[in-house]
Amino acid sequence: MRLILLGPPGAGKGTQAQRLVERYGIVQLSTGDMLRAAVAAGTPVGRKAKDIMDRGELVPDDVVVAIVSDRVDQQDAKAGFILDGFPRTVPQAEALDRMLAERRMPLDLVLALEVPEKTLVERLSARGRPDDDCETILERFRQFNSLTQPVLDYYGRRGILRRIDGDAPPDEVFNRVRRAVDEAMASNSP
Ligand code: AMP
Repeated sequence: MRLILLGPPGAGKGTQAQRLVERYGIVQLSTGDMLRAAVAAGTPVGRKAKDIMDRGELVPDDVVVAIVSDRVDQQDAKAGFILDGFPRTVPQAEALDRMLAERRMPLDLVLALEVPEKTLVERLSARGRPDDDCETILERFRQFNSLTQPVLDYYGRRGILRRIDGDAPPDEVFNRVRRAVDEAMASNSP
């Protein structure tokens, strides 16, 4: 099972991805986590990404595409994966398509978590990550609306997008997520 979790900052992608990991035994590939690890380790990618992330902007496509491409080649991703926070732009989605086509690893499902902005702000304010201050949150919403919304349309046209109402407690949202995944698995299996 290979799936993508899409949604604005605070939609619950990380929380739902962790539950999917436990239930389906596939790995979570979070570009945000990988970039934060690179920043903490002071690698060249981390040095390039730090200021961009602090401003709430998006790291260049070629940088994240390279990170994901290395990661999907690792052994633990062979059984399946959840992409959390990637792709965030249409060029990233196109690069992902090429990457997965070369490896004969088609996507099974794209889940879009939908949550009203008021709830998102409440959740992010409670989280306390360095990029969760008011101004940066607003910038991240702007980036989502202008660059990532078109990614939803991209997958919508491909017929693999499922929208999930994410405005509920995590367990309830996970029931909805699980149903969508199980349906996709049933209809994709020969
Ligand atoms: P996240 O943990 O997914 O909220 O990501 C935190 C920050 O990492 C974002 O605000 C971006 O600066 C950067 N980032 C994460 N994933 C991507 C991506 N796919 N493309 C560009 N920047 C990203």
